[in-house]
This record gives sequence, C-alpha cells and structure tokens, in this order.
Amino acid sequence: MATSFTKLKNGDWGVRTDGSAAVGQSVVVAKRDGSSSTVIVTKVLWTDGKVSLCAISRAVPKNNSRNGSVCAECGRGGPLVTDLEDGLRKHYRCCDLPPSGY
Ligand SMILES: [Zn+2]
Repeated sequence: MATSFTKLKNGDWGVRTDGSAAVGQSVVVAKRDGSSSTVIVTKVLWTDGKVSLCAISRAVPKNNSRNGSVCAECGRGGPLVTDLEDGLRKHYRCCDLPPSGY
C-alpha cells in the first residue's frame, strides 16, 4: 500500500493512500528521507475506492507513557492517539477534530 503525506485544504497534514481506509486504522507513511512514521486515520475525507484522502492523528509510541495510559478526554484506557490540537493523549474518537470545510 503506497501512502504519502499530503497537505489538506484546511492546512493540516493528512495522508493519501492506495485503496480504502477506515477511521481508526493505523497507516505507515514513508517519508522522503527514507524513514517512516505511523499515523492514525481520524477521518476519511474522500475516496473513490482506489485512493483515499484521510485526516490523521499521530500515533503515540507504545513506550511513551509519561502522561499515563488513559484518555485525557474521557479518562478511560485503550488505544490512544495524540490530539494534534492540544497534544494530549486521547482516543481518536475523543479528539477535537479540526473544523472541516469538506
Ligand atoms: Zn476517550
């Protein structure tokens, strides 16, 4: 699956990926310098079944536990992501998604 970062219409970074994507799915994005990073799909903005354009949140490394392992929004555990807006760890569903003009 080819995935690359792309700038969204609202100025945030998102990803463009082959095939269909699902909210909550983690995708590995290869960067031009050869490294890669893992991001979580927070919203599928557009897809035609072959290519999907998605809003993303950065995945939190498993060894990063400085803020504990509960969601900053609802206080429960589970798979957390870092909210791009305030940097707190939350469930992707609890993140304050940026206002979208889509
Ligand atoms: Zn939560």
